[in-house]
Formats: sequence, C-alpha cells, structure tokens
Amino acid sequence: MNSTTRQPPGYEEVGGRCCPMCEGPADTHWCSHKFTYGPGDDAVELTADLPVGRCEACDFEFLDSEGEKCKTEAVCKHLGVLSPWDIKAIRRRYDMSRAEFARLSGLGEATLARWEKGILTQNRANDRYLRLIAQRDGMDRLRAIAVEPNDVTDAAAPTGERFRVISITSDLRKEQQLFQLRRAA
Ligand SMILES: [Zn+2]
Repeated sequence: MNSTTRQPPGYEEVGGRCCPMCEGPADTHWCSHKFTYGPGDDAVELTADLPVGRCEACDFEFLDSEGEKCKTEAVCKHLGVLSPWDIKAIRRRYDMSRAEFARLSGLGEATLARWEKGILTQNRANDRYLRLIAQRDGMDRLRAIAVEPNDVTDAAAPTGERFRVISITSDLRKEQQLFQLRRAA
C-alpha cells in the first residue's frame, strides 16, 4: 500500500515504487531534509520535503529521482524562477512540441530541453519571458509579432535584385540637379 497523500512536482504515474535491494513493494513517507545550495560563501541552506521510499519487506529506505525533483523545486523557489515542470506545463498548455515552442518563442530547442529536464536553470530575463508567454494574451501577442524569417524573405524580394548599385560621379550629380518633373505631353 502507498501511504503518501502528496506527490513530487511534475510527478508522472509510473506504477508503484520498488525496493532497489529486494525489489519488494515500497511505501513512501515524507521527510524534511536540509541541504546546501550554491558555491563557497554564497552557499545557503535550503529545506525540502522529500519522498523517502521504504521497503515493506526488508525495511530498506531510499531516495530516487522523485526526491531530486523536490530538491530542484526548493532551489527554484529560492531563486524565484519557474521550475522545470512549470516550463513544460506552459508548453503543453499550448499543445506544442518542443520544436514548435522553440520556433515560436525564438528560444533554442536544446536550451529549452535543458530547462525542462532541470539540467540548466533559465536566467531572470528568460524566466520573465516565459511567464509572459504563459499568459494567453502574452502568447497571442507573441504569435502576432513572431514572423518567420522565411516569410519576410518571401514577402520582399532580396534588395540586391531590387536596386542597382551605382557610383555617384560628378556627371551624374549634374544630371540629377538638372532633372525636373515635367507634365506628360
Ligand atoms: Zn526491500
């Protein structure tokens, strides 16, 4: 039986947890856990509730990737930025693939993947950009201004073909000064 009433952030049901020692069924209980975040003097102590697995057969206790997600969430909360699953949820809200979302937003697809997997944390500017896109009207405005470079090229002929490059000579300058608009005969 699973006694947990909570779920780790971004939790996706993958079946019951399994003991890594005896592969028996494992229960989950939540434990408050303190950990250090940041380098050297900038390090801060953060607290996160972690889902600890406990084997019903051999009493072995363990942490897995769900625990890492809870720590990541605590770090994002500390930094005041969206969590990886927040970012994924924004993209899914618009039912877009990573490639589609990247193309529309102008963000790099690989970068987006790293944010969503928690490998990399977005900077403040990108975090605010994502929060704007998360709003319906923000997304509508983005769609209106995000014109594909190819569309622009299609709409206007390349300048090289539209204009002839000429060098300004003194004769030409004289001609231009003499030029007058005349009524058609
Ligand atoms: Zn076990």
